[in-house]
Amino acid sequence: MRKLPMDSWFWLPKLGSGFGEIKDVGVLYDSKLGFKITSEADLPKALAVLSRVLNDQVQLVSLCFVCGEPLVDDMGYVMCEGCAGSDDAYALYTRKFASLIDQL
Ligand SMILES: [Zn+2]
Repeated sequence: MRKLPMDSWFWLPKLGSGFGEIKDVGVLYDSKLGFKITSEADLPKALAVLSRVLNDQVQLVSLCFVCGEPLVDDMGYVMCEGCAGSDDAYALYTRKFASLIDQL
């Protein structure tokens, strides 16, 4: 089982002919950043193609908005248990948000 992040750049091993297929199903590719799966992709098809090309079952995971750890249960939360459970979860969230705004 291979977990790939949703809405976040990641790298894959050399894909050979699978490269074109992956792009065909809407997975984004950037030569500097790697691959990215967004809701614009044909998700069921993208998962099927990725699983076949990587010869492994692929599962999409969302990443914690604060620390970037994969979320265990993707129930629409944006923070992992560790971050959401910490006393200053809200401060972490707003600080991260502020840092993102700064980068714009
Ligand atoms: Zn976290």
